[in-house]
Amino acid sequence: MSATEAAPASPAPGPLERVASELLPSLGADGVRARRAPYIEVFERLDAFITRQRDTGAEVLRFPPVMSRRQLERSGYLQSFPNLLGCVSALHGSEAAIRAAADVHEQGGDWTRSLAASDLVLSPAACYPLYPLAGGRGPIPRDGLLFDVAADCFRHEPARHASRLQSFRMREFVCIGTPSQALAFRDAWMERAPRLAEQLALPSRIEPATDPFFGRVGQVMAVSQRQQALKFELLIALETNTAPTACMSFNYHLDHFGLAWELVDRAGERAHTACVAFGVDRLVLALFCEHGLDTRRWPPTVRKALSLP
Ligand code: AMP
Ligand code: ZN
Repeated sequence: MSATEAAPASPAPGPLERVASELLPSLGADGVRARRAPYIEVFERLDAFITRQRDTGAEVLRFPPVMSRRQLERSGYLQSFPNLLGCVSALHGSEAAIRAAADVHEQGGDWTRSLAASDLVLSPAACYPLYPLAGGRGPIPRDGLLFDVAADCFRHEPARHASRLQSFRMREFVCIGTPSQALAFRDAWMERAPRLAEQLALPSRIEPATDPFFGRVGQVMAVSQRQQALKFELLIALETNTAPTACMSFNYHLDHFGLAWELVDRAGERAHTACVAFGVDRLVLALFCEHGLDTRRWPPTVRKALSLP
């Protein structure tokens, strides 16, 4: 192309990119973004909207963004998603050893070679810290247990679009109980969720899904997960002409966590678990993509559902 030829016009940014550049400034690392005031307002009101849907009797817990590495290992995370895990590492040793390692950076070298793993990992989902906590409390009561948990989660994944972050908020409702209690909980939420999306005027559909299990063995796990209908997702189109995005998931874990954490009832029967996850950041993005940047112009029904002033 000669200097006088016009450069091809770059395509106009879609709604997702516009929303992200306006409300979610990038922080110099892929998929790590700050939230600006209008986004925070909707984020908090959506969180309150989710709270209003909570089952009575659910115990509320909020987890930090880190959790015990040993607990995540025992939950089997490394077998399924080793590629997504972030482990906290730190400089260990004497003052002299730590000083020497830090000085390597000052001298233009690679200080990270001196890092060693700590006993913490970044939580990859909000419900993982719950099962060990519940397992340490004795038998699961006859009616089962319900929880409302949340955490800022980390997944080491390519974040080419604003809807795929490395750090994002996950809110979950969790049931620990008999197989029929866990399954009924999961199925009831699959009934309810599309109606909640309707209240937010977000066109959605539910589809069977699989987790992104790692490697070739992972493909076998995904086939089995699909055959047993263990995972479903609520999909919302953030933009026209692109595949819809999973904004919620509905998961039945059978006795996976029951086995790992000795969750049993009084008769010694192993508990089953299920969780419904709200991808809070993705839902907020969906609201802005669908209804525009100015929340004052959102449909009155949506404003009412979210109690926007
Ligand atoms: P999952 O445990 O993979 O079913 O995730 C639960 C929900 O978290 C998904 O339905 C998404 O809404 C949200 N989520 C998962 N991964 C990401 C990500 N990389 N960025 C933003 N949200 C995510
Ligand atoms: Zn979960």
